[in-house]
Amino acid sequence: MAGGVVILGASHAGVQCAAALRDSGYKGAITLVDEGAEAPYQRPPLSKGFMTGATPLENLALRGDSFYSTEAIALKAGVRAERIVPALRQVILADGTSLEYETLVIATGGRGRPFLDHEPLGNVHTLRTLQDAWQIRAAIDQVDGPVAIIGGGYVGLELAATLRTSFGRDVHVFEASERLLARAASPSLSDLVAQKHRAAGTVLHLGCAVAGLAQSEGQVSGVVTDEGAVVATALVVKGVGILPNQELAAACGLACQDGILVDQYCRTSDPSIFAIGDCCRFPDAVSGKMLRLECVQNAHDQARAVASVIVGDAQPYAAVPWFWSDQLGMKLQTAGRWEPGMSCVVRDESEKGKISFFHFSESGRLGAVETVNHPSLHMLARRMLAAGLSPNPADCADATFDLKKLLS
Ligand SMILES: Cc1cc2nc3c(=O)[nH]c(=O)nc-3n(C[C@H](O)[C@H](O)[C@H](O)COP(=O)(O)OP(=O)(O)OC[C@H]3O[C@@H](n4cnc5c(N)ncnc54)[C@H](O)[C@@H]3O)c2cc1C
Repeated sequence: MAGGVVILGASHAGVQCAAALRDSGYKGAITLVDEGAEAPYQRPPLSKGFMTGATPLENLALRGDSFYSTEAIALKAGVRAERIVPALRQVILADGTSLEYETLVIATGGRGRPFLDHEPLGNVHTLRTLQDAWQIRAAIDQVDGPVAIIGGGYVGLELAATLRTSFGRDVHVFEASERLLARAASPSLSDLVAQKHRAAGTVLHLGCAVAGLAQSEGQVSGVVTDEGAVVATALVVKGVGILPNQELAAACGLACQDGILVDQYCRTSDPSIFAIGDCCRFPDAVSGKMLRLECVQNAHDQARAVASVIVGDAQPYAAVPWFWSDQLGMKLQTAGRWEPGMSCVVRDESEKGKISFFHFSESGRLGAVETVNHPSLHMLARRMLAAGLSPNPADCADATFDLKKLLS
């Protein structure tokens, strides 16, 4: 028995939702449930500072130890939510207990997309959780030989950069598309990132689908391409995207379609149940298209939107999406959403180690800005996009033109 708000998933979205509820003056009971036994932690460092050792375990915590007791948030860690019974407003937990809710927030995130149906093999990993990161770190110390990353997305490339530069390992990246970051980044940014990885000594196999894994005595020994080539490897990390954890929602009748479907307030097809973060698919405020985003900004801003609805001051979710990645000494930041067909204007400040790509839709509207090592321009781009400003492409290309003027 809990009542109040029950939140399933205590990660970026769930913990932020609990915090935003208290910040908004919510006085009722809040219960956070997570199947992971660890204190809620940040995921972005798992492929970056935590992997290199620069970020110690204690710095991964999403909130300080006293946060949950001070804010009267009951944290039930290490117990899985098994079933939702909307008719009774009840969640059944794996330990046999149940929780009652007035409002339920599903923030169950995603899991590594299954890839290659093979028998369990030693030294084949995915990277989604702290446990995964521990296992990869331990494996790196135990095996010699090249490492293969399957999938040229952000997480895989961050890991490739870390393994190459901090561990001096031979690294191969296999990507079925003709370019890296094909889902989320523009071709201009992809090309730049590919150049940097090649310069660091990573072997990129682009346009190369992986057909299977070779093995020797139960350990992975190679990656088999669809052309039948075998590239020797001692360790494989599969990074081919995630599947939303929507099964709980689907099983109790909530509408799902590659994500739990929600409206602009993150409300599901049951008005007392919300879904936020990586697990949900929502209407984009700009295009109206249904989207599922996998980034911390989306998890946090949707959490705040739901808190606003619960306390009776409903604010729709309409934030400008943004994202960052750190690899090979580059801070990559994207404001807005790049889409195929957009035209690209380059602002080249490479003499200062910076370059930025402005992307315009066919109608001439600014849709996304990708910056490399330019945090101040990234912040400016977020403000321009939020204000619906579309600067002149020639001004964007002119590195001497002060874009701040447009906001004043
Ligand atoms: C290695 C890595 C690096 C990343 N780097 C970046 C980055 O640089 N920038 C960025 O913006 N984003 C980054 N991301 C993405 C970002 O971490 C996610 O978008 C974010 O974690 C989403 O938060 P979430 O709370 O929606 O889901 P998750 O973080 O996936 O959390 C979901 C939680 O729900 C729990 N859960 C699931 N099912 C149940 C159940 N049935 N019962 C109880 N608990 C359950 C899980 O244990 C988990 O703790 C990275 C992700 C990874 C894995």
